[in-house]
Amino acid sequence: MSILNADLHCHSVVSDGTLTPEQLAQRAHANGVELWALTDHDEVGGQHRALAAARAQGIKYLTGTEISVTFAGHTVHIVGLGFDPDHPALVQGLRSTRGGREARAREMADQLAQVGITGAFEGALKYVGNPDLISRTHFARYLVEIGACRDTPEVFRKYLTEGKPGFVPHRWASLQNAVHWIVQAGGMAIIAHPGRYGFTANEEYALFTEFKNHGGQGVEVVTGSHSAQEYLEYAGMAKEFGLAASRGSDFHSPDESHTDLGTLPWLPGELTPVWELLSDRIQ
Ligand code: AMP
Ligand code: MN
Ligand code: MN
Ligand code: MN
Repeated sequence: MSILNADLHCHSVVSDGTLTPEQLAQRAHANGVELWALTDHDEVGGQHRALAAARAQGIKYLTGTEISVTFAGHTVHIVGLGFDPDHPALVQGLRSTRGGREARAREMADQLAQVGITGAFEGALKYVGNPDLISRTHFARYLVEIGACRDTPEVFRKYLTEGKPGFVPHRWASLQNAVHWIVQAGGMAIIAHPGRYGFTANEEYALFTEFKNHGGQGVEVVTGSHSAQEYLEYAGMAKEFGLAASRGSDFHSPDESHTDLGTLPWLPGELTPVWELLSDRIQ
C-alpha cells in the first residue's frame, strides 16, 4: 500500500506556483502520479478545476490546501487533505488567513525600497495569479528578474527572511483554528515539512503534542523539503506520536523546484500512509 505514487503537496497559480491546475494534472500524470492533491497556500479556489483535470488525466484526487499558522512565534504550515472545499468554516477561515497579505506586501516593498530596490510591489504583482495571494515567492521572482539575485534560494538567503531586508513579521492562523477548519470540513490535518522549521527538540515536541490534541492526524515524512536523514527522523516521530505519514513534492515551478511531481522515494513501509485513512475521500 505504501508503494503508491501519491503526490499530496504542490502549488498552482492560485497561490505561488507557476503552472495552472490543468498543467499540474498533466505533469503529474506524465510523471506517473497515481494519487494527486493540489495544496495551494491558504486557498481552495483551484480545487474544482484540479479535480476535473485529474479526472481528465485518469488519476485519483484528494482535495488539498496548505494553511499558514503562527505557532510559538514561528510560521508553521498545516496541510489539509480530503475535505469539502465548499465548507463554510474552512472557506471563511482561509479568507481571513489571506486577509493581511496585501498590507504585508506593501511593507515588504517599503523595506526593499530602503535598500535601493524600488518598484517591488508592482514588480511582484506581475507574477501574482490570484490578487488575494501575494506571497514572498512573487517578490523572489521579481528580485531574480531584476538581477538582484541569481535564483530564488539566493533571494531567501539575502532578503525576505528574519533579519534581512523585506522581512515583515506576520500573524497567521492559530494551530487550533487551522486544524479545526480542516476537520470540520471532513478532512485530515497534516504537519507539513517539519524539518524546515529549525525547531529545538522541545519546540518540536510541543508542536506535535498540541497538533495531536487539536485533532491532527498526519505528518509529512517524505517531502521535497527533507533530507534522507529527515525521512528517518520523521518516520520515527510519526510512530512515536501515532500519526499517519504523507508524501509530497511541494512542487512550485519547473524552473525553480528541484523535486518534480511524483519523483520522491516511497514512504517507509512500516508507516500508515495518510491515503489509507482517507480512502473514502479519494475521488
Ligand atoms: P509567504 O507565505 O508569503 O510567507 O511565502 C512562503 C513561500 O516562500 C513558501 O511557501 C515557499 O514557496 C517560499 N519560500 C520560503 N522560504 C524559501 C526558501 N528558503 N527557498 C525557496 N523558497 C522559499
Ligand atoms: Mn510556496
Ligand atoms: Mn510549506
Ligand atoms: Mn507548500
